[in-house]
Amino acid sequence: MPQRRNVDPVRLRQRMVEQLEAHGISNPLVLAAMASVPRHLFVQDALRAQAYEDTPLPLGYGQTISQPYIVAVMSEALEVAPGMRVLEIGTGSGYQAAVLATMGCTVFTIERLRELYQPATALLRQLNFHDIHTLRRDGTLGLPETAPFERIIVTAGGPVIPPPLTEQLDENGLLLMPVGAQQRAQTLVRVRKTRGCTLQEDLGGVVFVDLIGNHGWQRSP
Ligand code: SAH
Repeated sequence: MPQRRNVDPVRLRQRMVEQLEAHGISNPLVLAAMASVPRHLFVQDALRAQAYEDTPLPLGYGQTISQPYIVAVMSEALEVAPGMRVLEIGTGSGYQAAVLATMGCTVFTIERLRELYQPATALLRQLNFHDIHTLRRDGTLGLPETAPFERIIVTAGGPVIPPPLTEQLDENGLLLMPVGAQQRAQTLVRVRKTRGCTLQEDLGGVVFVDLIGNHGWQRSP
């Protein structure tokens, strides 16, 4: 694709990261990862010029890539350290998975829609993300054969935290998920597992597309 004038991805990314810092994101691993992952390759061609604006963008099929600030907040709230095994539900474009892998994690990411799973898998392979494993299935059931996970991140909103995900969370693990009794309006919930008990914190209001599946919504409105 011909490079448009005024679109220098490295400079735009740097500016995006400065904005994230100005909005309170301080984890150096998060900032370095978001300064490095080429977000413009994860959005549709026609939207590349907007890839570094702080806005969600459509991925097609009714799904969206979250705005950079929300990706940063979630990546920070997940308190990851290099070497951790992370399960992500909702691969979408693959951008959040790429950020977590760049932070040093091994990522297992699940997507239910073939139309998004295929291009995301191809892009992540092309960009040499060998520590990201993509799977197509209902993520509300988790990934029992690979559990437990030190971190679980759900990037779609559901009515409850799917019980299989809590079960597959490691001791001292953290799970992050947008939870709401109504579709498209949720609270970002963080669950911490300590000695088999779970402690839940609310991190504020968010808007995510629907988590659809066995332990999610049955279908979109
Ligand atoms: N994290 C993504 C954005 C996620 S959008 C990114 O960085 O681009 C939410 C995604 O969750 C959509 O792609 C949607 O198809 C997917 N999804 C919804 N329910 C799901 C389920 N039960 N299992 C796996 N993926 C699901």
